[in-house]
Amino acid sequence: MSARPKKSFGQHFLHERRYIERIVSAVAPGPDDFLVEIGPGEGALTFPLLAAAGRLTAIELDTDLIPNLQSRAASIGELAIVHADVLTVDFTAMAHQQGVSRLRIAGNLPYYISSPILFHCVDHAAAIADMHFMLQKEVVDRMAAEPGSKVYGRLSVMLQLACRVEPLFDVPPGAFRPPPKVDSSVVRLIPLSSDARHDADPVRLHAVVKAAFAQRRKTLGNALKQLLDADAIRRADIDPKARAETLAPADFVRLAKVAVES
Ligand code: SAM
Repeated sequence: MSARPKKSFGQHFLHERRYIERIVSAVAPGPDDFLVEIGPGEGALTFPLLAAAGRLTAIELDTDLIPNLQSRAASIGELAIVHADVLTVDFTAMAHQQGVSRLRIAGNLPYYISSPILFHCVDHAAAIADMHFMLQKEVVDRMAAEPGSKVYGRLSVMLQLACRVEPLFDVPPGAFRPPPKVDSSVVRLIPLSSDARHDADPVRLHAVVKAAFAQRRKTLGNALKQLLDADAIRRADIDPKARAETLAPADFVRLAKVAVES
């Protein structure tokens, strides 16, 4: 059964088998994994992942897709469907409730909210073992960008401070029904272990990174003036005349910590 894809839900269903297989083998689900899929749609990834893992929890916002997913899953494995907006799902609580230390998350994400989903997952990074996501290629490029690159920005810094970012492979528009207007890429995100994670206050860090990149052509001294003065920036070992795009992710952590102390 094939539903008419809904634009408002960002529905682009993956149909090319070779990309489905590549994603499933990148995830490499095992029988002890607690797997969560964001946006199962018509089940292109759901059923092969379920077959490999034996059980899977899928989070889907579109009610119309749920009966088909449920009936087709019955002969394959144990599929639990959470009918919700993924941004309201507390992954930390889900891991606790399921009695697992960490979830494995996968999904061909709805592109209209891909950045909010990424930030939401970062907030729950301690409860996540890994993530495999299909995203716009441009978003994956930004996530993996290094200082000095034109696309280095807020997404690069926040993602790299929480996870190892591994772009895997590109997927052309023709692999989806209907084809999106953009190229896509699959990325693997592995949350950093607790001793490698930064110890800045997350709210301050967000504020500093956001302000620094809001006006990326300005010097940090100007861009951050609502948050900290030039002396405070120097105390973080950073030149107030520098621009945000030249700073490494760890530099922003020092700035956020100075912002708290000053
Ligand atoms: N996984 C399927 C595939 O690869 O063919 C569908 C991918 S489609 C790009 C995105 C899916 O996310 C759709 O099923 C859509 O209904 C669902 N979705 C959209 N917004 C959502 C949200 N806020 N929370 C959960 N699912 C959402």
